[in-house]
Amino acid sequence: MCGIVGIIGKDNATDILVQGLEKLEYRGYDSAGIFVTGKEQEEYLVKSLGRIADLQNKISPEVQGTVGIGHTRWATHGKPSERNAHPHTSSNRQFILVHNGVIENFEEIKQEFLQTKSLEGETDTEIAVHLIEHFAETGLSTKEAFKKALTVINGSYAFALIDKNDPDTIYVAKNKSPLLIGLGEDFNVICSDAMAMLTETNHFVEIADGEMVIVKADKIVIEDQKGNLVYRESYEAQLDLSDIEKGTYPYYMLKEIDDQPAVMRRIVQEYTNTLGETIIDEKIIETITASDRIYIVACGTSYNAGWVGKALLEKMTNIPVEVHLSSEFGYNMPLLSEKPFFIFLSQSGETADSRQVLVQVNEQGFSSLTLTNVVGSTLSREADYTLLLHAGPEIAVASTKAYTAQIAVLAVLAKAVGDNKRNQFSLDFDIAHELSVIAAVIETIIDEKMLISQLVEEYLTTTRNAFYIGRGVDYYVSMEASLKLKEISYIQAEGFAAGELKHGTIALVEEGTPVFGIITDKKTAAHTRGNLKEVESRGAHNFVIALASLSKETDQFIIPDVHPLLTPLVSVVPTQLIAYFATLQRGYDVDKPRNLAKSVTVE
Ligand code: GLU
Repeated sequence: MCGIVGIIGKDNATDILVQGLEKLEYRGYDSAGIFVTGKEQEEYLVKSLGRIADLQNKISPEVQGTVGIGHTRWATHGKPSERNAHPHTSSNRQFILVHNGVIENFEEIKQEFLQTKSLEGETDTEIAVHLIEHFAETGLSTKEAFKKALTVINGSYAFALIDKNDPDTIYVAKNKSPLLIGLGEDFNVICSDAMAMLTETNHFVEIADGEMVIVKADKIVIEDQKGNLVYRESYEAQLDLSDIEKGTYPYYMLKEIDDQPAVMRRIVQEYTNTLGETIIDEKIIETITASDRIYIVACGTSYNAGWVGKALLEKMTNIPVEVHLSSEFGYNMPLLSEKPFFIFLSQSGETADSRQVLVQVNEQGFSSLTLTNVVGSTLSREADYTLLLHAGPEIAVASTKAYTAQIAVLAVLAKAVGDNKRNQFSLDFDIAHELSVIAAVIETIIDEKMLISQLVEEYLTTTRNAFYIGRGVDYYVSMEASLKLKEISYIQAEGFAAGELKHGTIALVEEGTPVFGIITDKKTAAHTRGNLKEVESRGAHNFVIALASLSKETDQFIIPDVHPLLTPLVSVVPTQLIAYFATLQRGYDVDKPRNLAKSVTVE
């Protein structure tokens, strides 16, 4: 969600900031801005509503400098507008601040410290920059004023601050929102995501919550809350710039759908040996084996993947599994079992809702594992264990390959624990082979793109709403399929347990309402078909996605058979393509849906 970039020590700060912000565009934002200055004391503050391209149009060529900060905003406090866009300045224009996150006590701060200040916009961030100014006015140095403000501010933040009277320094701090320092030769950068600055460096230093960093062109100084100096090694980002280019594809989402066979094969490579045995840290396997209940905690698409994970884990390990929404779990924690084990699913590893649960889990001393795509992300660092998804960067806001990667890695994990428990079902399951079959089947589905495009034209170009139905894992995929469709095409879509529709929602079915039935499970196929008949009798325009061995000639899309436990990995693929084509045909931006952010770093 949103983004921060900063640079100190190069002549072309503006170009670097704008390029960095472009790299963060995929995360979703509504406005953007930069502040640039330098030794000559010239300064430029440019902000714009809309895309980075709009910002760029407002920047004239002379806008250059040696130091600067930039921001993409995903509005939380105050509507998206140029006035509310960051950077924000203090009343005397000495301090310039960008912020990701939410300041929870901004009203109280305003009441207590800022009664005499006049504020221009409605953001919580503006309160912070005025608070820094307020403390500076009491005689504190910029560093001390910033530090003091941090002791007053509650909430989540990644801050980058410039004092324009001292253009040799960027002051940085973070709490619960991601921020990194990138190291260069005679320059340094800051960014909320390493991808933004890969063109400048691939050496990064993490910042822990509560720390403050003074960033200069030739050095960085990290201080903890007590003012002690902290020394931390840098790490090398294992990212390749080519991973984040979309090449000849019109949209990242299509590229990422197409990436899925390769991701499945990579997961086989990373997590199984030549004998087909799983390679997973013994400690993870032993801890899960010793637990009496697994709690999967996640949001959005990851939450939907969690449900498929539940089916896999319960079948192969015999350990009960509960799946929870992070935003609910944190504040309404259910009664826990005696030996719970927590699994967090987060593509970015930065999801704030999940992180607040992990903090509580750690406080209570329970064991946890994060499945994430991003090495060194917050949820990865703070959980006891991490399993990487190896999906490669996912740029499109609508998650596709991270969903299938999460399920595949959960399948490997379930197999590893199941084997450890000598579960016969697990022992008979050749995961490396089955995932290789999955990879090949996904390829054949992707080859049918044009058929799906034609069907979508027939079913979804003008509809107001649509439903997905299925039972068991087909229901879980229906939840994901409908989320995908609604988040990018804006068609109101819901996924239902097939038997549940008639208990209420069937009232919404009218002449021509598209209802997609997913049928991959022998024991429920006839029942789902029965439910499809019920809606058809009421005017629904049915679209059946069925496994070959359960299919009928009249079905719209048929998927080759795969192992019964892994059907979600293939049945979801046509639904991803359905969402993609529906969005294209309705004329929307596939990769950047309105109001959404890629990684949701505020609660
Ligand atoms: N809460 C701040 C605002 O609404 C920052 C939002 C963000 O993280 O982009 O401006």
